[in-house]
Amino acid sequence: MMIPLEEARRLVLDACPLLEPGPVPLSEALGCVTAEAVVATEAVPPFANTAMDGYAVRAADTAGATPEAPARLAVVGTLAAGQAPLEPVGPGQAVRIMTGAPLPEGADAVVMVELTREDGAGAVLVTAEVPPGNHIRPAGDDLQAGQEVLPAGTELRPAHLGVLASLGYSQVLVRPRPRVGVLSTGDELVEGGEKLRPGQIRDSNRPTLLALLRDSGCDGVDLGRAKDAEGDIEEALERGLDICDAVITSGGVSVGDYDYTKAVLDRLSEGAMHWLQVAIKPAKPLAFGVVRGTPVFGLPGNPVSSMVSFECFARPALRAMAGHHHLHRPEVMAVADDGLPRRPDGKLHLDRVTAEAGADGRFHIRSVGGQGSHQLLATARANALALVPDGPGIPRGGTVRTLLLHV
Ligand code: AMP
Ligand code: MG
Repeated sequence: MMIPLEEARRLVLDACPLLEPGPVPLSEALGCVTAEAVVATEAVPPFANTAMDGYAVRAADTAGATPEAPARLAVVGTLAAGQAPLEPVGPGQAVRIMTGAPLPEGADAVVMVELTREDGAGAVLVTAEVPPGNHIRPAGDDLQAGQEVLPAGTELRPAHLGVLASLGYSQVLVRPRPRVGVLSTGDELVEGGEKLRPGQIRDSNRPTLLALLRDSGCDGVDLGRAKDAEGDIEEALERGLDICDAVITSGGVSVGDYDYTKAVLDRLSEGAMHWLQVAIKPAKPLAFGVVRGTPVFGLPGNPVSSMVSFECFARPALRAMAGHHHLHRPEVMAVADDGLPRRPDGKLHLDRVTAEAGADGRFHIRSVGGQGSHQLLATARANALALVPDGPGIPRGGTVRTLLLHV
């Protein structure tokens, strides 16, 4: 019996364990999810400093200054970023100061250089009145000591890593990237440029799945190819279960006569595998189970099916294991610039399409052509999946829920 996509996905998500957190260097942490709140141990910026190149002054000394009647101040020093302030600024005095330099004692404002004129003999003419605090970035203006800067569960983006670096962190406690083994199965498979013998094809699923993993923030582990033979499949699976947080296989999960993957997984899982028929096209068959604590995804062998199955099941599950809250791709209601005809068959069709934002502010999609589950080139042209519900399809100009894979 076929089960709906949502039900199959719930079954998978409910069974996948959350990975234990560990410290990771900042350079490795992009895209990982924090496992504890990060609290600032110091203020940023650590000292009041100038946001402009100009002169540090006492604001009161600029009262009434205009281009016609500038205030004349004695320049008593120069401060570059990185220097500690030496001379205080007394009444009638100014210090030449560069962006990022600390505000000297006595000064309470900065006049930007564009509002000044040098006046020979160590003096400067200020041509505008400025208020106290002008162009000064106070200590702690970005973040204060003791402040929670990142809650637990934050997916680290580049700016988050910058915040952590500004606080002196060299590592951060995150859920690790899932290590995921990828195994291809099938007697027909060869790889590389070797000449094909009759009946052989090249393994395209493994490179695709390893790349999808990388794209999803996981570390892929290449488990190679296994022949359609129980010993071969079992050996590779055992290796994967030993060293990986999850294992993905492709091939051998439908109802063919040589589907040894099924026999091996049933044995290793002690009967805990689910052999699902999901009401979607492509990617109807899915094997899933947790084997000795490690989720195993048995994806169908057809290249497009294995990709769509990865997208529907493995990717959200692996994201959940890594602590993400947003598991799914962004979904929009898109306008079908091509009709997406289909026949009723009890399944949700995931049509490969191109999606582009139109001048009307809506996403518009077009079919990439060949929707066969073996037609990988058409899929390679797609950047979205249109979720075409059971029925006659979507007429040209109609709207359809669409998952944006990459835009
Ligand atoms: P299976 O699920 O093993 O019955 O395979 C279904 C189809 O996918 C068959 O045409 C296989 O030859 C093809 N196939 C299986 N594994 C791969 C692979 N790794 N790369 C490319 N095609 C594959
Ligand atoms: Mg096969």
